[in-house]
Amino acid sequence: MTSHPHSSSRYCMQCGGDLAERLPQGDSMARLVCEACGFIHYLNPRPVAGIIPVREDGNLLLVRRAIEPRRSFWVFPGGFMDVGETAEEAAARETQEEANLEVTALSLLGVYTRIHAGVVVIVYEALALGEGSAGSETSEVGWFAPAAIPWSELAFDTTHWALEAWLKKRGLEDLKN
Ligand SMILES: [Zn+2]
Repeated sequence: MTSHPHSSSRYCMQCGGDLAERLPQGDSMARLVCEACGFIHYLNPRPVAGIIPVREDGNLLLVRRAIEPRRSFWVFPGGFMDVGETAEEAAARETQEEANLEVTALSLLGVYTRIHAGVVVIVYEALALGEGSAGSETSEVGWFAPAAIPWSELAFDTTHWALEAWLKKRGLEDLKN
């Protein structure tokens, strides 16, 4: 995720006029307002959807990132939602793209906000239908037993939070090393 929520265009998306920070009447925080047409540019976080795929034997899949940021660190498959798909569909699509893996039986695990990245991450767990392999933006897939999660090599704080929640949901939090 390279774009920062506060570094978007300096020009109005409606008319091309200059933007300035103003506190609109009745609003609670300053917004980027067009000085020409008055259009208010609200900056909203973007939803990301991801999946922790789990095999019948209880091991889970992570992918090793092949791109920045956090290249070569482990993360669960996930990415930005496209218009026209549900969060579940986006999560399953990203899992197919990044891990060449079909999943089924999605179950919501948690919703996490990365304030400074401007994203809200929706994480499911799901049953893996296969072994998977490296896909787009990944260099490797790895299957990890709950006691062998690579905590010091995780890509993001959301990765950490979701895996902690997954362990807790299964009553395995004592296995966090
Ligand atoms: Zn304008």
